[in-house]
Amino acid sequence: MRVPLLDLSQQYRTLAGPIRAQIEEVLASQRFILGPKVEAFEQAICAYCAAPHAIGVSSGTDALLAILMALGIGPGDAVITTAYSFFATAACIARVGATPIFVDIDPGTYNLSPSALEGFLRDECEQKADKIIVRKSDATVRAMVPVHLFGLCCDMDSLHRVSEKYQLDVIEDAAQAIGAEYQFNSQLKQAGTMGECGFFSFYPSKNLGAAGDAGLIMCRDDKLAERLRICRQHGMKPRYHHHFIGGNFRLDEIQAAILNVKLPHLNGWSAARRAAADFYGEEFSRTGLTQKISLPIEPYRERGLNHHHIYHQYVIRSPMRDALREHLTRCEIGTEIYYPIGLHMQECFAYLGYKEGDFPETERAAGDTLALPIYPEISRETQKYVASTTLVEPLEI
Ligand SMILES: *Cc1c(COP(=O)(O)O)cnc(C)c1O
Repeated sequence: MRVPLLDLSQQYRTLAGPIRAQIEEVLASQRFILGPKVEAFEQAICAYCAAPHAIGVSSGTDALLAILMALGIGPGDAVITTAYSFFATAACIARVGATPIFVDIDPGTYNLSPSALEGFLRDECEQKADKIIVRKSDATVRAMVPVHLFGLCCDMDSLHRVSEKYQLDVIEDAAQAIGAEYQFNSQLKQAGTMGECGFFSFYPSKNLGAAGDAGLIMCRDDKLAERLRICRQHGMKPRYHHHFIGGNFRLDEIQAAILNVKLPHLNGWSAARRAAADFYGEEFSRTGLTQKISLPIEPYRERGLNHHHIYHQYVIRSPMRDALREHLTRCEIGTEIYYPIGLHMQECFAYLGYKEGDFPETERAAGDTLALPIYPEISRETQKYVASTTLVEPLEI
């Protein structure tokens, strides 16, 4: 049996009719950019997330870039983020001329470790006037970008305590976590709505995927929202008057139209992903494999949330990861390593001066994690096959 890591074809088959009708409507209207479909989608997300403002943009990457530009973060500033994420998280910080500062992860959740964060601010920074300065570089720490990796929210209560104490803006990278819930200050919140700003990616393989690139920013401050809307159009308002340098970060009508069709199904898909994750857990426990591999942990399961983890990825870890992956590949089971190299070890960030050993938990995760096939429509039969194939060599040795 061939099992892809992700199979979007079944989802498309069930929605092909309404998606095609929506695309036809956009073509008939000849309104392709920032029209009524984008507005409707922004409103739908505001309702879905209980967010005051939503701004559709061209991708998750452009969302973060626009946020940093609108906040006026640039040369002389530093932004703290995790060493274990997709490249874009750190690249955008560098692209606006600020310095990315990496912090290690919590080994259970793979998310930014609040204690490592606090340790950095306490030991390597100091207060100068009303600013927090990195002692070594004199850069001003302006913000943090926690990433809700694999669909599980960071420990936002702890991160919030640190951000309050040091007066940092919180920009949530919720690219992998749309629909994930968290109990924030004992209030039910959606991923992306707990910081000053948060953003989603609708890259086709994300839980809510467009038919191309798309993204969205959420924020709570009215003035910042206005600035972000202007930033999305080259910092322009009114036409041909540019307040500051933004970019072309606009969302296409066709993408918004498709996302409008899909959004009402998102909660169902998240529930199906969680059910599939539960089933993997049962199968791995039943077969005794949990002695040899570690399963994803669910720190918020007991909090009474519906979508405590939306399993963008189902990631296991094993000291025999590479041999296991080779074996699964031979058996035509798709797997992926997210991410094989910590951001601090990427060649393009060599100028930041990090070295191997700086973030032991990130490096360990880069060496022993493996994502298994998961998507809403995956069948129990397919999962049984994946689990039983995982069971046999090389883990037998
Ligand atoms: C996908 C992703 C992004 C970037 O989103 P794009 O829409 O691909 O630009 C940023 N951060 C994380 C964690 C992601 O997974």
